[in-house]
Amino acid sequence: MNLLSDRILNMSTSATLAMAAKARELKAEGKDIIGLSLGEPDFNTPDYIKDAAIQAINDNYSAYTPVDGYVELKDAIITKFKRDNDLDYVHSQIVVSTGAKQSLANLAAVLLNQGDEVILPCPYWVSYADLVKLNDGVPVEVPTTIATDFKMTPEQLDAAITPKTKMLWYSSPCNPSGSVYSKEELRALADVLVKHPNIIVVSDEIYEHINFSGEHASMAQFEDMYDRTVTVNGVSKAFAMTGWRIGYIGGPEKIARACNKMQGQITSGANCIAQRAVITALNESPSKVQFMIDEFKIRRDLVLDLLKDIEGFKTNIPEGAFYVFPNVSYYFGKTLRGTTINNASDFSLYLLEEALVATVDGGAFGNPECIRISYAASQEQIIEAIKRIKAALS
Ligand code: PMP
Ligand code: GLU
Repeated sequence: MNLLSDRILNMSTSATLAMAAKARELKAEGKDIIGLSLGEPDFNTPDYIKDAAIQAINDNYSAYTPVDGYVELKDAIITKFKRDNDLDYVHSQIVVSTGAKQSLANLAAVLLNQGDEVILPCPYWVSYADLVKLNDGVPVEVPTTIATDFKMTPEQLDAAITPKTKMLWYSSPCNPSGSVYSKEELRALADVLVKHPNIIVVSDEIYEHINFSGEHASMAQFEDMYDRTVTVNGVSKAFAMTGWRIGYIGGPEKIARACNKMQGQITSGANCIAQRAVITALNESPSKVQFMIDEFKIRRDLVLDLLKDIEGFKTNIPEGAFYVFPNVSYYFGKTLRGTTINNASDFSLYLLEEALVATVDGGAFGNPECIRISYAASQEQIIEAIKRIKAALS
């Protein structure tokens, strides 16, 4: 008998976290690694948010919080949903969790039965497929290419739906492609979904504010989708708060209650100090963090510009998040400095070893022809990293 369960043995390790750990390890050995693997803003959490946390400690916030979050935090989330997304939620529709990752894990656990299918437009965020599989669901990958800006078309969605389809999961802005679905594009997907009233939509909007195209659209804004859409969001990205671990959902009350029940047995409420800080983060205007978004846009342009000079990198123009997802299949079958590159995993490893630049294999996001480059790094690091990549490939 195995010591470990089939459940954990069958699960993949998070490729983003594995690459970040590997980069850290090599750095500790003294190697000059530039980490472009992790989706983590390189800014500090803004002072007004830190001050709220310090205040909370001094005010003796230390006890368990309600499992689904402080009422004041739910108020702030309700305000945020109305202000930024024109979405109306009440307290019983909101659940605060230990990161959006836990929000997603809760949703998979409370919604999936054995064999239920979840449509994942590909590329998708690294944890979606494993969270689905962990809960006995079946990921149904819908491949997209640069030709459609890595977006799923309504025809593709229609073709992927079967009697077993339980959910559609996607992120917009998308990690890893940076693609942003416009309101019209979401409406076209909704037009397919209205014919299948039992399909639940999980709309991961954690990169909402990191959007260079202007408008952010939410699936739940459509009246005919509101009752079966769960909107997932969090503070990790736009507020540079990855380690504070706060995410949240707004959605149908029945689903929110189930997530609350699940979390009550697994983690209880999220960290009390972090929750108090997030009340401030969400109540303040998002314009307070615009400086980070402006900087991400400068870096996006910089990366695209520098990559143009490297043979064999094909990219879309990412309109949001902080990633580029170049197709590097040009290099497959080629031998570089004695190493044969057969896929994106080999390519990413080659860049780590030869250029000392950490990226992530696109296979982890369901597209083995691409790699993901995170530009949540300084302009100097980006310039140096791409210089090294170019040299390693020349
Ligand atoms: N969704 C997407 C698309 C992400 O990129 C991330 C990044 N970690 C998450 C969810 C989870 O975020 P967190 O758990 O830090 O809130
Ligand atoms: N979401 C980030 C990324 O994609 C953080 C890592 C993770 O949570 O997996 O790199």
